[in-house]
Amino acid sequence: MSIRVAVAGAAGRMGREVVRAVHEAEGMEVVAAIDRQHAGEDCGVLAGIGTIGVEVRDDLAEAMRESAAEVVVDFTVPASAMGNIRIAIDGCVAPVVGTTGLTPSDLDQIREWAAERGVGTLVAPNFAIGAVLMMQFARQAARYLPDVEIIELHHENKVDSPSGTALMTAEMISAARTGSPHPPPAEPVEKIPGARGANLDSIPIHSVRLPGYVAHQEVIFGGLGQTLTIRHDSIDRRSFMPGVVLSIRRVPSLDGLVVGLEHLLAES
Ligand code: NAP
Repeated sequence: MSIRVAVAGAAGRMGREVVRAVHEAEGMEVVAAIDRQHAGEDCGVLAGIGTIGVEVRDDLAEAMRESAAEVVVDFTVPASAMGNIRIAIDGCVAPVVGTTGLTPSDLDQIREWAAERGVGTLVAPNFAIGAVLMMQFARQAARYLPDVEIIELHHENKVDSPSGTALMTAEMISAARTGSPHPPPAEPVEKIPGARGANLDSIPIHSVRLPGYVAHQEVIFGGLGQTLTIRHDSIDRRSFMPGVVLSIRRVPSLDGLVVGLEHLLAES
Protein backbone atom coordinates (compact mmCIF):
# COMPACT_ATOMS: atom_id res chain seq x y z
CA MET A 1 0.00 0.00 0.00
CA SER A 2 1.36 3.39 -1.02
CA ILE A 3 1.51 6.30 1.42
CA ARG A 4 -0.92 8.94 0.12
CA VAL A 5 0.86 12.31 0.08
CA ALA A 6 -0.53 15.84 -0.32
CA VAL A 7 1.98 18.56 -1.22
CA ALA A 8 1.27 22.11 0.02
CA GLY A 9 3.20 24.73 -1.94
CA ALA A 10 3.31 22.31 -4.90
CA ALA A 11 3.98 25.08 -7.42
CA GLY A 12 6.93 26.52 -5.45
CA ARG A 13 10.63 25.74 -5.91
CA MET A 14 10.71 23.10 -3.17
CA GLY A 15 7.16 21.87 -3.78
CA ARG A 16 7.97 20.93 -7.39
CA GLU A 17 10.98 18.92 -6.21
CA VAL A 18 8.81 17.18 -3.63
CA VAL A 19 6.21 16.25 -6.26
CA ARG A 20 8.97 14.73 -8.38
CA ALA A 21 10.66 12.92 -5.49
CA VAL A 22 7.43 11.43 -4.10
CA HIS A 23 6.32 10.36 -7.58
CA GLU A 24 9.64 8.60 -8.14
CA ALA A 25 9.94 7.04 -4.66
CA GLU A 26 8.84 3.48 -3.93
CA GLY A 27 5.75 3.02 -1.79
CA MET A 28 4.28 6.53 -1.93
CA GLU A 29 2.22 8.61 -4.34
CA VAL A 30 1.16 12.22 -4.81
CA VAL A 31 -2.62 12.35 -4.32
CA ALA A 32 -3.12 16.10 -3.86
CA ALA A 33 -1.27 19.31 -4.74
CA ILE A 34 -2.13 22.62 -3.12
CA ASP A 35 -0.91 26.09 -4.02
CA ARG A 36 -2.23 29.64 -4.24
CA GLN A 37 -1.22 29.78 -7.89
CA HIS A 38 -1.51 27.46 -10.91
CA ALA A 39 -4.91 26.06 -9.86
CA GLY A 40 -6.13 23.51 -12.40
CA GLU A 41 -2.66 22.73 -13.76
CA ASP A 42 -1.23 19.23 -13.42
CA CYS A 43 1.42 19.28 -10.67
CA GLY A 44 3.53 16.72 -12.55
CA VAL A 45 3.76 19.05 -15.54
CA LEU A 46 4.84 21.89 -13.21
CA ALA A 47 7.46 19.57 -11.73
CA GLY A 48 8.79 18.71 -15.18
CA ILE A 49 7.82 15.02 -15.10
CA GLY A 50 4.72 15.16 -17.32
CA THR A 51 1.07 14.58 -16.46
CA ILE A 52 0.44 12.55 -13.30
CA GLY A 53 -3.30 13.24 -13.06
CA VAL A 54 -3.17 15.46 -9.95
CA GLU A 55 -4.35 19.03 -10.46
CA VAL A 56 -3.23 21.92 -8.27
CA ARG A 57 -6.02 23.16 -5.98
CA ASP A 58 -6.17 26.04 -3.53
CA ASP A 59 -8.06 24.52 -0.58
CA LEU A 60 -5.99 22.21 1.60
CA ALA A 61 -8.83 20.92 3.83
CA GLU A 62 -10.96 19.98 0.84
CA ALA A 63 -8.05 18.48 -1.10
CA MET A 64 -6.98 16.39 1.91
CA ARG A 65 -10.48 15.09 2.48
CA GLU A 66 -11.22 14.22 -1.12
CA SER A 67 -7.85 12.57 -1.74
CA ALA A 68 -7.76 10.65 1.58
CA ALA A 69 -4.20 11.92 2.10
CA GLU A 70 -2.22 10.38 4.96
CA VAL A 71 0.73 12.82 4.99
CA VAL A 72 0.90 16.52 4.09
CA VAL A 73 4.28 17.94 3.09
CA ASP A 74 4.42 21.72 3.59
CA PHE A 75 6.95 23.93 1.83
CA THR A 76 5.07 27.23 1.72
CA VAL A 77 5.70 30.49 3.60
CA PRO A 78 5.76 31.07 7.37
CA ALA A 79 2.47 33.00 7.23
CA SER A 80 0.68 30.00 5.68
CA ALA A 81 2.42 27.08 7.35
CA MET A 82 0.75 27.33 10.76
CA GLY A 83 -2.73 27.32 9.20
CA ASN A 84 -1.81 24.35 7.04
CA ILE A 85 -0.38 22.41 9.99
CA ARG A 86 -3.55 23.05 12.00
CA ILE A 87 -5.75 21.83 9.13
CA ALA A 88 -3.61 18.71 8.69
CA ILE A 89 -3.56 17.79 12.38
CA ASP A 90 -7.30 18.50 12.75
CA GLY A 91 -7.86 16.08 9.88
CA CYS A 92 -5.53 13.50 11.51
CA VAL A 93 -3.13 13.78 8.57
CA ALA A 94 0.57 13.71 9.55
CA PRO A 95 2.48 16.89 8.58
CA VAL A 96 6.07 16.98 7.32
CA VAL A 97 7.04 20.65 7.51
CA GLY A 98 10.04 22.16 5.74
CA THR A 99 8.86 25.76 5.80
CA THR A 100 11.28 27.85 7.84
CA GLY A 101 10.63 30.94 9.94
CA LEU A 102 8.50 29.21 12.59
CA THR A 103 9.14 30.69 16.05
CA PRO A 104 9.67 28.78 19.32
CA SER A 105 6.11 29.68 20.34
CA ASP A 106 4.84 28.34 16.98
CA LEU A 107 6.61 25.06 17.78
CA ASP A 108 5.02 24.97 21.25
CA GLN A 109 1.64 25.45 19.64
CA ILE A 110 2.26 22.66 17.09
CA ARG A 111 3.46 20.37 19.91
CA GLU A 112 0.17 20.97 21.73
CA TRP A 113 -1.99 20.32 18.64
CA ALA A 114 -0.04 17.16 17.77
CA ALA A 115 -0.30 15.83 21.33
CA GLU A 116 -4.03 16.61 21.61
CA ARG A 117 -4.81 14.70 18.43
CA GLY A 118 -2.04 12.09 18.72
CA VAL A 119 -0.77 12.94 15.23
CA GLY A 120 2.90 12.33 14.32
CA THR A 121 4.40 15.61 13.11
CA LEU A 122 7.86 16.45 11.82
CA VAL A 123 9.33 19.95 11.48
CA ALA A 124 12.84 20.15 10.03
CA PRO A 125 14.64 23.38 9.11
CA ASN A 126 16.95 21.38 6.87
CA PHE A 127 16.37 18.04 5.16
CA ALA A 128 19.88 17.70 3.69
CA ILE A 129 22.00 15.06 5.43
CA GLY A 130 25.13 17.19 4.96
CA ALA A 131 23.50 20.10 6.77
CA VAL A 132 22.46 17.85 9.64
CA LEU A 133 26.08 16.65 9.92
CA MET A 134 27.33 20.25 9.76
CA MET A 135 25.15 21.09 12.77
CA GLN A 136 26.34 18.03 14.68
CA PHE A 137 30.02 18.80 13.96
CA ALA A 138 29.43 22.40 15.04
CA ARG A 139 27.92 21.21 18.31
CA GLN A 140 30.98 19.02 18.89
CA ALA A 141 33.42 21.86 18.15
CA ALA A 142 31.52 24.27 20.41
CA ARG A 143 32.62 22.30 23.48
CA TYR A 144 36.23 23.31 22.79
CA LEU A 145 35.98 26.57 20.83
CA PRO A 146 33.44 28.99 22.34
CA ASP A 147 34.10 31.84 19.86
CA VAL A 148 31.99 31.29 16.76
CA GLU A 149 30.14 33.13 14.00
CA ILE A 150 27.71 31.85 11.37
CA ILE A 151 27.41 33.01 7.78
CA GLU A 152 24.41 31.69 5.87
CA LEU A 153 23.94 32.33 2.15
CA HIS A 154 20.69 31.82 0.23
CA HIS A 155 18.98 32.76 -3.03
CA GLU A 156 17.60 36.29 -3.36
CA ASN A 157 13.94 35.25 -2.92
CA LYS A 158 14.24 33.71 0.53
CA VAL A 159 11.82 35.67 2.73
CA ASP A 160 13.01 34.85 6.26
CA SER A 161 16.37 35.63 7.79
CA PRO A 162 18.36 34.34 9.45
CA SER A 163 17.65 30.91 7.98
CA GLY A 164 16.03 28.20 10.10
CA THR A 165 19.25 26.20 9.78
CA ALA A 166 21.34 29.08 11.13
CA LEU A 167 19.00 29.53 14.08
CA MET A 168 19.01 25.83 14.87
CA THR A 169 22.82 25.70 14.57
CA ALA A 170 23.20 28.65 16.94
CA GLU A 171 20.81 27.09 19.45
CA MET A 172 22.73 23.79 19.34
CA ILE A 173 26.08 25.57 19.78
CA SER A 174 24.73 27.66 22.64
CA ALA A 175 23.46 24.54 24.45
CA ALA A 176 26.74 22.63 23.93
CA ARG A 177 29.22 25.44 24.68
CA THR A 178 31.10 24.95 27.95
CA GLY A 179 33.37 28.02 27.88
CA SER A 180 32.46 31.69 27.43
CA PRO A 181 33.20 33.56 24.20
CA HIS A 182 35.51 36.57 24.33
CA PRO A 183 33.58 39.63 25.51
CA PRO A 184 33.06 42.29 22.81
CA PRO A 185 35.10 45.52 23.07
CA ALA A 186 33.92 47.75 25.92
CA GLU A 187 32.78 50.44 23.49
CA PRO A 188 32.10 48.77 20.15
CA VAL A 189 31.65 51.08 17.17
CA GLU A 190 29.24 49.84 14.52
CA LYS A 191 29.68 52.40 11.78
CA ILE A 192 26.62 50.98 10.04
CA PRO A 193 24.05 49.39 12.39
CA GLY A 194 23.92 45.65 11.86
CA ALA A 195 27.52 45.39 10.63
CA ARG A 196 28.26 42.69 13.22
CA GLY A 197 25.20 40.70 12.21
CA ALA A 198 22.27 39.45 14.23
CA ASN A 199 23.06 37.97 17.62
CA LEU A 200 21.82 34.81 19.30
CA ASP A 201 23.45 34.09 22.69
CA SER A 202 26.64 35.93 21.62
CA ILE A 203 26.77 34.09 18.30
CA PRO A 204 26.73 36.60 15.42
CA ILE A 205 24.72 35.40 12.41
CA HIS A 206 25.23 37.02 8.99
CA SER A 207 22.65 36.50 6.22
CA VAL A 208 23.63 36.86 2.55
CA ARG A 209 20.89 36.94 -0.13
CA LEU A 210 22.10 36.77 -3.73
CA PRO A 211 21.06 35.27 -7.06
CA GLY A 212 23.08 32.15 -7.79
CA TYR A 213 22.91 30.64 -4.31
CA VAL A 214 20.62 27.79 -3.25
CA ALA A 215 21.35 27.17 0.48
CA HIS A 216 24.80 27.38 2.08
CA GLN A 217 26.24 27.86 5.55
CA GLU A 218 29.63 28.36 7.15
CA VAL A 219 30.19 27.96 10.87
CA ILE A 220 33.53 29.58 11.74
CA PHE A 221 35.16 28.88 15.08
CA GLY A 222 38.14 30.95 16.27
CA GLY A 223 40.78 29.92 18.82
CA LEU A 224 44.29 30.94 19.78
CA GLY A 225 46.21 31.03 16.49
CA GLN A 226 43.65 28.90 14.62
CA THR A 227 40.24 28.85 13.00
CA LEU A 228 37.96 25.96 12.12
CA THR A 229 35.45 26.35 9.29
CA ILE A 230 32.61 23.88 8.81
CA ARG A 231 30.80 24.52 5.55
CA HIS A 232 27.83 22.92 3.85
CA ASP A 233 26.49 23.70 0.36
CA SER A 234 23.19 22.63 -1.10
CA ILE A 235 23.90 23.29 -4.76
CA ASP A 236 20.65 21.68 -5.92
CA ARG A 237 17.26 21.34 -4.22
CA ARG A 238 17.47 17.59 -4.83
CA SER A 239 19.81 17.52 -1.82
CA PHE A 240 16.77 17.84 0.45
CA MET A 241 14.71 15.05 -1.10
CA PRO A 242 16.11 11.87 0.54
CA GLY A 243 15.37 13.53 3.92
CA VAL A 244 11.85 14.47 2.83
CA VAL A 245 11.12 10.95 1.53
CA LEU A 246 12.46 9.36 4.74
CA SER A 247 10.31 11.75 6.79
CA ILE A 248 7.17 10.84 4.82
CA ARG A 249 7.78 7.15 5.59
CA ARG A 250 8.40 7.76 9.29
CA VAL A 251 6.07 10.61 10.27
CA PRO A 252 2.86 8.58 10.72
CA SER A 253 4.48 6.54 13.50
CA LEU A 254 6.05 9.48 15.39
CA ASP A 255 4.80 10.27 18.87
CA GLY A 256 3.63 13.90 18.59
CA LEU A 257 6.02 16.62 17.37
CA VAL A 258 9.63 15.89 16.46
CA VAL A 259 11.89 18.82 15.48
CA GLY A 260 14.91 18.04 13.31
CA LEU A 261 15.72 15.32 10.80
CA GLU A 262 18.57 14.05 12.99
CA HIS A 263 16.08 12.28 15.27
CA LEU A 264 14.92 10.11 12.37
CA LEU A 265 18.47 9.43 11.15
CA ALA A 266 19.53 8.24 14.59
CA GLU A 267 16.79 5.59 14.56
CA SER A 268 17.03 4.46 10.94
P1 NAP B 1 8.55 29.33 -2.94
O1 NAP B 1 9.16 28.98 -4.24
O2 NAP B 1 8.11 30.75 -2.68
O3 NAP B 1 7.30 28.35 -2.77
C1 NAP B 1 6.31 28.49 -1.80
C2 NAP B 1 4.99 28.19 -2.49
O4 NAP B 1 3.98 28.02 -1.50
C3 NAP B 1 4.53 29.35 -3.41
O5 NAP B 1 4.08 28.82 -4.63
C4 NAP B 1 3.41 29.96 -2.58
O6 NAP B 1 2.47 30.65 -3.35
C5 NAP B 1 2.82 28.73 -1.95
N1 NAP B 1 1.94 28.99 -0.82
C6 NAP B 1 1.95 30.02 0.04
N2 NAP B 1 0.95 29.87 0.93
C7 NAP B 1 0.30 28.72 0.64
C8 NAP B 1 -0.79 28.02 1.20
N3 NAP B 1 -1.48 28.50 2.25
N4 NAP B 1 -1.18 26.85 0.65
C9 NAP B 1 -0.51 26.36 -0.42
N5 NAP B 1 0.53 26.98 -1.01
C10 NAP B 1 0.93 28.14 -0.48
O7 NAP B 1 9.50 28.95 -1.74
P2 NAP B 1 10.56 27.74 -1.67
O8 NAP B 1 11.89 28.21 -2.10
O9 NAP B 1 9.95 26.53 -2.29
O10 NAP B 1 10.66 27.56 -0.10
C11 NAP B 1 9.51 27.19 0.65
C12 NAP B 1 9.90 27.10 2.13
O11 NAP B 1 10.79 26.00 2.31
C13 NAP B 1 10.64 28.34 2.67
O12 NAP B 1 10.21 28.59 4.00
C14 NAP B 1 12.09 27.88 2.67
O13 NAP B 1 12.87 28.58 3.63
C15 NAP B 1 11.91 26.45 3.04
N6 NAP B 1 13.03 25.55 2.72
C16 NAP B 1 13.26 24.55 3.59
C17 NAP B 1 14.23 23.61 3.35
C18 NAP B 1 14.41 22.48 4.33
O14 NAP B 1 15.28 21.62 4.10
N7 NAP B 1 13.63 22.43 5.41
C19 NAP B 1 14.99 23.69 2.18
C20 NAP B 1 14.75 24.72 1.29
C21 NAP B 1 13.74 25.64 1.56
P3 NAP B 1 2.68 32.28 -3.50
O15 NAP B 1 3.81 32.42 -4.47
O16 NAP B 1 1.37 32.75 -4.01
O17 NAP B 1 3.02 32.81 -2.15
